[in-house]
Amino acid sequence: MKLNGNFQNLEQSYLFVTIAKKVAAYTQEHPENKIIKMGIGDVTMPLAPAVIQAMHDATEEQAHKETFHGYSPDSDGYPFLREAIANYYKNFGVDMDPSEVFVGDGAKSDVGNIVDLFDVDNTVLVPDPVYPVYVDTNIISGRKIQYMDANEQNGFLPLPDPSVQADIIYLCSPNNPTGATYNKEQLQAWVDYALEQKAVILFDAAYEAFITEPGLPHSIFEIPGAEKCAIEFCSFSKTAGFTGMRCGYTTIRKELVMDGVQVSKLWQRRQGCKFNGTSYITQRAAAAVFTAEGQKQIRETIAYYQNNAKVMMDAFTKMGVWFTGGTNSPYIWLKCPDGMGSWEYFDYLLHNAEIVGTPGEGFGKNGEGYFRLTAFGDAQKTVEAMERIQKLKK
Ligand code: PLP
Repeated sequence: MKLNGNFQNLEQSYLFVTIAKKVAAYTQEHPENKIIKMGIGDVTMPLAPAVIQAMHDATEEQAHKETFHGYSPDSDGYPFLREAIANYYKNFGVDMDPSEVFVGDGAKSDVGNIVDLFDVDNTVLVPDPVYPVYVDTNIISGRKIQYMDANEQNGFLPLPDPSVQADIIYLCSPNNPTGATYNKEQLQAWVDYALEQKAVILFDAAYEAFITEPGLPHSIFEIPGAEKCAIEFCSFSKTAGFTGMRCGYTTIRKELVMDGVQVSKLWQRRQGCKFNGTSYITQRAAAAVFTAEGQKQIRETIAYYQNNAKVMMDAFTKMGVWFTGGTNSPYIWLKCPDGMGSWEYFDYLLHNAEIVGTPGEGFGKNGEGYFRLTAFGDAQKTVEAMERIQKLKK
C-alpha cells in the first residue's frame, strides 16, 4: 500500500494557526485586551428570519410520515431550489436552465471536487495571491501549477498572457483576498483566451452579491462565449450567512463540451457517485433566500457589511493608504504602511491597536507587504478599529 505522495507536496497551512498562536500569546500577556478581530472571512450576523422560518417549516415536515424526506431523488438538488437559482440568474440577463444548476454543500467542496473531472496532465493557471483551495486541490491530484502575478501594477487583476499555455484557469471575482473585481472587457479577454486555448475557466463568484458598481459582471455567463468554456461556483455563505449551514451551487451550461463530452453530465456522474445531496432542510432554507422577503432581508445584512467596508475605505483613503476592494467586496486589501512586511504589520497592529487582520503573504508571494481586513464584523467595532488605526498614523 502506498499513500498519495502528493500530500507531501502541500505546503503546511501555517497562516491561521500562526495568527491564532500570536493572538493567544498576546491575550495571555494582556488579559485586559480589547482585541478586534478582522482576520478570518466569516460572517457574524444571524440568518434572515425568512430562512429561519423555512427551516422550522422543513423541520416540521421531517416530523411526519406524510411529509418526511429521506435521500433526495438525485444529488443535484431539489427542483424547487434549482429553479429558484436559475431564476436568480435572470437578474444578470443570463437565461439559465434549472438542469444547468447543481446544488452542493458549499463552494469549497465543489471547487475542490471539480478537479476530479480533469486529467492529471493539464496545466493549471492560478493568480498569486490566491484562495488556497485552488492550489492545494491540484497539488493533491498531482497537477502542474503555473502562477500569474496579481500586483499593484495590474490592480490585482491579472489578464491573460497569450504566450502562456493553460488548460484550467482559476478566476475569482470579486476576489478573495484582494477584493478586486473584473469588469466585462477584462472577463471577455479571459473568455477569448480560454476559447483560443481550449481551456476551462473555473470562475468563483462567491462574493458576487457584494458588487455595488453597476455594469460589473456578477456571473461569467454574462460574457459571450463563456457558456462554452466556463464553470461557475457560487455560495450562500457570504450572500446569506450560510457559513455554518453549508449550501452552494455550481452552474455548467449545456454548451460546455470538451473531448466530445458534455461536462455537466460528467459532474452529475461525479456527484451521483460521491455525494448524496445537501440536506432537505438546508435546501428549503436556501430557497427562502430567493423569496421577496428573503431577498429584502439578506440585502439588509449585506448592506450592513458594505457599510463597514465604507467606514474602512474612508479611513484608509483619508490616511493615504493604497488599497483595493471594499466597493464590491467585503475585503479591504491594503498596502502595509511605511514599507512594513505583512507579518511585521500584523504584529504592529496587534500590539499597538489590538486589531487582528490577515497578512497578505499567507495568500502567496505577491501578498508580501499587503494586508487583508474583513468587513464582516460588528459595525461599532469596525468604527472603533478604524479610529485606532488612524490614531496610530499621527
Ligand atoms: N470561494 C471563495 C473565494 C471563498 O473565499 C470561500 C470562503 O471563504 C469559499 C469559496 C468557500 O465558500 P463555502 O462556504 O460555500 O464553502
